[in-house]
Amino acid sequence: MPAVTADPTTLTRVPAAGLGDVERPVRSITTAPSGLQGEGFPVRMAFAGVDARDLDPFIMMDQMGEVEYAPYEPKGTSRHPHRGFETVTYLLDGTFLHQDSHGGGGVIANGGTQWMTAGAGILHIETPPEELVMSGGLFHGFQLWVNLPRVKKFAPPAYQNLEGTDVTLLASADAGSLIRVIAGDVGGAKGPGSTHTPINLVHATVTAGAQLSLPWRPDFNALVYVLAGSGTVGVEQRPLRTGQLAVLGAGDRLTVAADAQQESRSPALEVLVLGGRPIREPIAQYGPFVMNTRDELRQAVEDYQAGRLGVIPDGALMPHTGRRS
Ligand code: MN
Repeated sequence: MPAVTADPTTLTRVPAAGLGDVERPVRSITTAPSGLQGEGFPVRMAFAGVDARDLDPFIMMDQMGEVEYAPYEPKGTSRHPHRGFETVTYLLDGTFLHQDSHGGGGVIANGGTQWMTAGAGILHIETPPEELVMSGGLFHGFQLWVNLPRVKKFAPPAYQNLEGTDVTLLASADAGSLIRVIAGDVGGAKGPGSTHTPINLVHATVTAGAQLSLPWRPDFNALVYVLAGSGTVGVEQRPLRTGQLAVLGAGDRLTVAADAQQESRSPALEVLVLGGRPIREPIAQYGPFVMNTRDELRQAVEDYQAGRLGVIPDGALMPHTGRRS
C-alpha cells in the first residue's frame, strides 16, 4: 500500500475547472535513466536531460526503487556533506534512517517526509535500519533537491520530520484521485512542509480511468513525474508512464489521467506533481554543493575539508554496506 491512504469520497475536494481556467500544455516529456546512488541503491534520475531553467527552483530528483531487496541487499549512503540547498526525502514503501551533524534525524517511513535544509552546511547519512538490511523487502521513495536563493544559501541548517499522517489529504473533483499535499497550497489547502521559497509538492494516486485536474499557481512552473503506472498528461493527453517526467507550460490548471488498464503491480497511477516560483539565479554545482558561483564552490570544498560543515556525533549511525559482517 503506497504511503498514506484514505477514501477520497470522505475528503474535501479541490475545485473543478472553471470557464476562464487555462490548462497547461505539455512542453516536454523525458524518460529517466536508471543508475545507482550512495552505496549502490537503484534510482531513476527523474530530471536528467531537462534544462535547469525548466526545473528551477528544483535541482535534482531521484526515484529510489521501486525495488524488492533480498536479505542483506538494502543500501544507503555513506556520511557526506551538503551546502546551499534542501533535500526532501519521501518514502512510499520501506524505511530509511537519517542522522545529521546538526542534531536532526529520525525514521522515514509510510508516506513520511524528511525535509533537511542544508543551508550553510551539514554532514548526514541516509541508511536502511539494521532489521531491514537483514530482512530485505520493498523500498520505494524519492529524494528531491530544492535550491535556496542567494540570501538563504547560508541559512542555519534545519530539519523537518513530517509524518505520513501530517500530510494534507484532498480528493479530486470526481473523487477518483487521492491528493497528498506535502508542501505548498492546492486550492487553498496547505501542506505541512515549511519552505524557503514558494513551492508545491504533491503525491497523487489516480484511480484507473480517473482524471485529476489541479489548480496550480500561474507564477509556478509545473512538473509531473510518474512513480508508477501509466496515463496521460496535459490538454493534449500525451502518454506518460513510470519513470517519465512532463514539463508543462504556462497556465493555471494541470490535468493528469490514469489509463483504464494498469499493471497489476500498480493498480493506480502514482504521480508526483511539483512546481515553484523560479529563483532565477546562476547555479554553480559541484557534487553535494549548490551555490551561485565557482568561488563559493571552492569555499564549500575548503570548509568541508577543514571540518567546518560539521562533525560526526558520538555513537553515530554507520553505513550498512549490504555485506554480511
Ligand atoms: Mn545527502
